[in-house]
Amino acid sequence: MEAFRYSQAKTVEGAARANGTFLAGGTTLVDLMKLNVLQPTVVVDINGLPLDKIEPAANGGLRIGALVRNSDLAWNATVRDKYPVLSEALLSGASPQLRNMATTGGNLLQKTRCYYYRDTNYACNKREPGSGCSALNGFNRIHAVVGGSKACVAVHPSDMAVAMMALEATVHTHGPKGERAVELNDFYLVPGETPQHENVLAPGEIITHVTLPALPAGTRSHYLKLRDRAQYEFALASAAVVVTASGGRIQRARVALGGVGTKPWRSKEAEQALEGQSASADVFKKAADAAMADAKPLQYNGFKIELAKRALVRALQTTTEQA
Ligand code: SF4
Repeated sequence: MEAFRYSQAKTVEGAARANGTFLAGGTTLVDLMKLNVLQPTVVVDINGLPLDKIEPAANGGLRIGALVRNSDLAWNATVRDKYPVLSEALLSGASPQLRNMATTGGNLLQKTRCYYYRDTNYACNKREPGSGCSALNGFNRIHAVVGGSKACVAVHPSDMAVAMMALEATVHTHGPKGERAVELNDFYLVPGETPQHENVLAPGEIITHVTLPALPAGTRSHYLKLRDRAQYEFALASAAVVVTASGGRIQRARVALGGVGTKPWRSKEAEQALEGQSASADVFKKAADAAMADAKPLQYNGFKIELAKRALVRALQTTTEQA
């Protein structure tokens, strides 16, 4: 590994000015530096910044600092009470030790688990633009069925971000051009021809916090993750649902899927199939079909389409049964 310059940021402005790679929990960055996949020249340790609070937001929702650890967020009383989908997603991810280190901002930015990306012996457009994609004609069982391109079909690995997508989170940043707020669905990019660009962050721009809106009274939510083993494994398919229902009828639905998309996958098609309808098995199946209508399987991952549909149906059943 090449030598790199390390510094500790004392202020958000200083971190942005340093224009380096930010180090928070290190649970993605340090792994990938050891593998020579990431070779930053400047590493800026941001752990000293005052970004570790979970507070009420001005809009009645929640403000989550970028350095809030995943464990603290998962077990926060307000999150467990008002946003259980987020707590469940966090607790389904990684291991207790990793959750104690991993941060909210880092989780949003974590890198794909595509094994070709993480092995420098293989061609990978995301790691080395223009070199090719080893997954397209390789063993692509864990790869994406929605949002992919001829350049990259890597899945975004975060559970937390899927829940935040269904909660319509907003990402707040500080960068060379000042502060801005970006809806999470607009924060992530699909790979297209440039899979090395995964989000809209500019060089030196740092995530400061995430806000969640207040939810309508009576809203219930749930995260269901399906994977090869019960612990310490990434999703093959997952579903985050946030539903407001009354008298057996769905008034409002927000749906996001994990494990299947090149970004945490919000399905407005599923939401439209649910809203105004009765909470029934038939309606849930139509919503699941709508969510996967544009899915494109690769050689080894066609099973994900049915798996994602079943995850969504089951998550909707669980959520509306509670009502
Ligand atoms: Fe690289 Fe993306 Fe292809 Fe994986 S799917 S090898 S990350 S270009």
